Amino acid sequence: MFEDIPVDVSPMYEGERIRSANMFVELAGPKSLGAELVQVEENVEDGKIEVIGPELDAMQEGDIHPLGILIEIQGEHLEKELEGVIERRTHELCNYVKGFMHLNQRDAIWCRVSKEALAAGFKLEHLAKTLAILFKEEFPLIESIAITILTEPAKVEEFVAKAKEEYQTRDARARELSDEDVDVFYGCVMCQSFAPTHVCVVTPDRTALCGAINWFDCRAAAKMDPDGPIFEVEKGDIIDNVKGEYSNVNSVLTERSQGTVERVFLHSVFEYPHTSCGCFEAVAFYMPELDGIGIVDRDFRGETPLGIPFSAMAGQCSGGKQVEGFTGLSLEYMRSPKFLQADGGYERVVWLPKEIKDSLEEFIPEDIKDKIPTEEDASSLKEIRSFLEEKGHPIMERIKTPEAEVPEEEITVEETPELGGEMEMEEMAMAPVAYAPELTVPSSGGVKIIFKNAKVYAEKVIIKKK
Ligand code: SF4
Repeated sequence: MFEDIPVDVSPMYEGERIRSANMFVELAGPKSLGAELVQVEENVEDGKIEVIGPELDAMQEGDIHPLGILIEIQGEHLEKELEGVIERRTHELCNYVKGFMHLNQRDAIWCRVSKEALAAGFKLEHLAKTLAILFKEEFPLIESIAITILTEPAKVEEFVAKAKEEYQTRDARARELSDEDVDVFYGCVMCQSFAPTHVCVVTPDRTALCGAINWFDCRAAAKMDPDGPIFEVEKGDIIDNVKGEYSNVNSVLTERSQGTVERVFLHSVFEYPHTSCGCFEAVAFYMPELDGIGIVDRDFRGETPLGIPFSAMAGQCSGGKQVEGFTGLSLEYMRSPKFLQADGGYERVVWLPKEIKDSLEEFIPEDIKDKIPTEEDASSLKEIRSFLEEKGHPIMERIKTPEAEVPEEEITVEETPELGGEMEMEEMAMAPVAYAPELTVPSSGGVKIIFKNAKVYAEKVIIKKK
């Protein structure tokens, strides 16, 4: 089937990572631009493959190029609603190709080609041919498929703009409905290949955390393939309407997560937040010092107010884990009126990157918009607090200042040699930390500070000798 393809093609290469040392070129990603788009069309010339722009053999080692992947499909029973779900498989199918790495989705894609693949004669044309075969195999409804790969900067730019319009149309459609309007939600386990206990619950108000699949997409996918990775989930009884907890959602989740996750609150970061695989567009994280929630997306390059970048935070809460105080989410969910409604919605948000804030301009309530700082206004907790105070953010009413509270800069932990290798500090003023199964705080002077299972406030600070 893949005789013309000079590298192996198999699901076994799905977890392959191409590090910088082994990379020939990078395509799309944070330093360039790119997108992938599936379109159901008429008159698709089956098997047509086109590469517009430089092929791999015209690129230099270490180059970073833009990339567009346009997949046009046709079939008597193919519905436009299936585009999003079929498109989401691009990630998995690209990764079947040995020497080609694909991350993320939509206009966040980030790809790499290995030096070995280039040496074997691999070209983008082969990637397109492989995808054409795999998509037809995976989706028998596809009768004709044509794939265009773009690397010409101007063409990619044009393509990305078109793709964004398509994504917006899909997303806007999902806003027509709300969770109360339906009896059925959908579950997706596509990401269990790398996050075995993760189950996405997709509702009209909560678009999947990858941002690529909404309730309508799921409905079409479940209808097309009822035994596939996307399936119906009857809501069952409402346990808590505000938190978004439903009896049957819990039951299905328990079964599909192999008993690992038993409850989920769809609209809260506390207690039983939605699990996170690793594909999330953004993470909501609790900041106990401010009793508020911050949001960071994968395009944000700096450090969050917790002192770690998006990548480190993603590492703490991905893999299908349910970590209180953190939840992966899509940017589209931030447009829903139910966005973290159990926690206070935007009234609880105390920091987010400027780019997200600008993109959500019309969805953030007018009376709170100017009271939420971005990285341009404040970065440290102290700066954020000053900003919130100055602007009269409603969170300030929630923050009580106990007498014993010590401003963060004044909390000092000094090594006390006579205590030996380990000491516990119980009488110190409460040192608030984010919830994390294990959080190691950077330190110096021969000590290592580890917060274990800290939940909102650490009652003890354990200092161990390295
Ligand atoms: S993030 Fe969720 S909805 Fe998106 S592909 Fe993965 S499991 Fe499915």
